[in-house]
Parts: sequence; structure tokens; C-alpha cells
Amino acid sequence: FLSHFLQAKMSRQVQARRLEGIDKNIWVEFGKLAAAYSKVNLGMGFPDFPAPDFLTEAFTRALGGGNHMLHQYTRAFGHPPLVKVLSQFFEKLLGRDLDPMTNVMVTVGAYQALFCCFQALVDEGDEVIIIEPFFDCYEPMVKMAGGTPVFVPLRPNPPKDRKLMSSADWQLDPAELASKFSERTKAIVLNSPNNPLGKVFSREELGLIAELCVKHDVLCISDEVYEWLVYDGKQHIRIATLQGMWDRTVSIGSAGKTFSATGWKVGWVVGPDRLLQHLRTVHQNSVYLCATIAQEAVAQGFQRELLLYGKPESYFVQLPKELQQKRDWLVQSLDGVGMKPIIPEGTYFLVADISQFKSDVPDVPNSDEPYDYRFTKWMIKNKGLAAIPLSAFFSEAHKNNYTNFIRFCFAKEEATLKAASDILQKWKLEKTS
Ligand code: PMP
Repeated sequence: FLSHFLQAKMSRQVQARRLEGIDKNIWVEFGKLAAAYSKVNLGMGFPDFPAPDFLTEAFTRALGGGNHMLHQYTRAFGHPPLVKVLSQFFEKLLGRDLDPMTNVMVTVGAYQALFCCFQALVDEGDEVIIIEPFFDCYEPMVKMAGGTPVFVPLRPNPPKDRKLMSSADWQLDPAELASKFSERTKAIVLNSPNNPLGKVFSREELGLIAELCVKHDVLCISDEVYEWLVYDGKQHIRIATLQGMWDRTVSIGSAGKTFSATGWKVGWVVGPDRLLQHLRTVHQNSVYLCATIAQEAVAQGFQRELLLYGKPESYFVQLPKELQQKRDWLVQSLDGVGMKPIIPEGTYFLVADISQFKSDVPDVPNSDEPYDYRFTKWMIKNKGLAAIPLSAFFSEAHKNNYTNFIRFCFAKEEATLKAASDILQKWKLEKTS
């Protein structure tokens, strides 16, 4: 009788309705596979080389340097030395005065910055425009806030004069973008440089987005975590600097990406107090504050970078130089085996075309799994090389149009990239022999 009684008590749905349909997560799924089978993991976006010495030394100093208060809570919306130096830094980048207490907030990585934005700014029934392909968490975060994601794709225009495509060849159709804006639109999410394509939006493209935001009184959530990772002399343009945009934009950054220390989970938002005051409400009612020591070390990292701003010794100058070499190396390896790369203008990701590999991957009867998923799982299991299927970065309605691509991360040691290249070479030999 007792067990019957207990069972009856457990028949009720436990999860909140807001979780419906968002339980799958690409990183969890492919992270598990990569951990079990891969020898070389170019799937997830993190460097396998060390964070710079000046940063880890700052952390060690903070840990044992005599200020025991660094082991205690700090200010909820950001450790004072960090918000101060971030405001000094972003004053330079944005060309306006910033108040460290009201225009900057520190978060648990850019992830929590995004979460605060959606929770604070999106209401039940609001529409949020998301440009595809997109960093996958935008969609569930909009839905959890009660909003409706509205997708608009970057469309590939293959070049006639070049063998390889560039991320710049993926473009918005201006009329299509304009058609997505209406009185229901609350915000647009912009991610430049874009994960997964590596596209760096041009001034014209940003101008078009800005014009529509101003015309329709729409907010812009600008995810700029790859702001320093831009190649070939390209320039990252901050949409908050465009006319009419400061008051409607929150710009998001990440020390994880900026200083190659993704495990520290220090991120930030910069924006007008009229928006940030509401982000602070979410923050104070969720995580409240972020780890003090990591904030102190990141503050010291930024103090160094402020002194060396634009100089050759600056990490923000050196890192993209090193990554550009790694990008070129991976581009060559992939091109050499017929997995045509789309050359990224920014980020540490690279998307490659796998349409010439269809005969390598066995068909799974009665499976509706897209080709890029099947291919990636097969490659991880059979070749020991991990990547991420590109269709994971598209909405359900559009994924089936983009199943011929996979994404690699090239923020890796030379030895890791060499091992990946060896796998690809061997594979090519097996194919041709
Ligand atoms: N935005 C984008 C576009 C990202 O690629 C990532 C990390 N992969 C994040 C946000 C999250 O950054 P963080 O690790 O600082 O939370």
C-alpha cells in the first residue's frame, strides 16, 4: 500500500513548463562523444594552450598576496577594481565617458550576461530577432524569458573569382531582415565576430541593423566575446558606437575569450544605466556576485592591457596574430583533403564543407538525423577527430538547409593542429588508395 501511495504521489510533472523543448544541448551531447572517442578535439571552443603568464601570476598574487579580503564577497555588480578598469578601457573603445558603477556589470561569463539580458528585457509575447547561424543558447534563453525567437539567416553567396569562400560571403538580405521587424520586436541579438562562421559584420551591415533598431525602437543585445579575434587587418566595429545605438545597446564581453581563460567564467556587460539597472535586478536575484579572486586577476590583466594599448606587447595584439597563423594552417590542412574551409575573418572557429565526404559515412536506414550530425559522430568514433555539426547553430525550421558543414576550433597548440592534420592526411590516403 505504501509503495502504491508513494508512486501515486510521483505522477505529477516536476519540471516547469518553461523548460519544454529546450532540454537538448549540443555541447553536452558532443562533449560526451568527444570525451569517449576523440584523440583530437577541435569541437568545443576553448584554447588548449596556457593563459598568458601575466594573468595567471595576477591570480596567484591575488590568492596569496596578503589581502585576505579577496577571499570574501565583493560588490554585487562587479569587483570595484574590475569595473573601474573596464570602464576606462571601454571609454577608449566606445569614445564616451562611462560610470564604472552604472555602465558596467560583471557576470559569470558571457553566458550569464546573456541570461540577464533576456530575463531583464524580454517579456511574454515579445519577439527577439536572431541572426542565423547563431550561438545556440540564444534560442532557449529567449524562450525561457517567455519571448519568441524570430530567425533571419545569413545566406551564402559563393564567390566566382575565388576558390575558397570567406565568412564575408555569408550575408543578410536587407529586405528579409527589414521584414522581421515589427511592433512586436523587442530586441535583436547581434554576434560579431560571429560564432560559428567567424563573420565580422561590416560597417554597412551594422548600419542597416542600427537603422532598423532606431526606426522600430528595438534594443540590441550585442555579443562581442570575440572582439579581439579579428584577422587580416579587419576592424571590429562596436554597434554601440553607431548613431542612436548607445541608449539601446548592451555590449557583452568575456575574459574567457579575451585572455584565453574560459574556465574563469568572468564576463561583463557595458551599456546605458537605463538598461543595466534592470540587468542588475536579475543579477542581484540570481547569482548576486561573481568570484572575487578571478575578478581581481582579470582587473590586473586589463590594467596591463590599458598601459600597452595598441602596442606590439599587448596580448590583444599578439593573440590574434598567433591565431591567424593557426587559422591559416588549418585552412591548408582542410583544403588539402577536400574539406573546403570557409575562411573566417574573426573568432577561433572555422566552418568546413563536408559535401565531398558523403560516400565515407554509412547511411543509417530510417534515420532522420541530418548528414552533418551523422558525419560528425562517425568522424569522432572512427577517426578520433571531434568537431561540431553546423546545423546545430540553426533553428529547427532552417537546419535542413545547412547540413553540409561542420565547425572546428583552431585555438589549439601546434601539436594538436598537427595531430588533426595527420588524421586528415591519413584519411585522404585511405580514400585514394
Ligand atoms: N557568446 C558566444 C558567441 C560564445 O561563443 C560563448 C562561448 N562559447 C559565449 C557567449 C559564452 O562565453 P563565456 O564562456 O564567457 O560564458
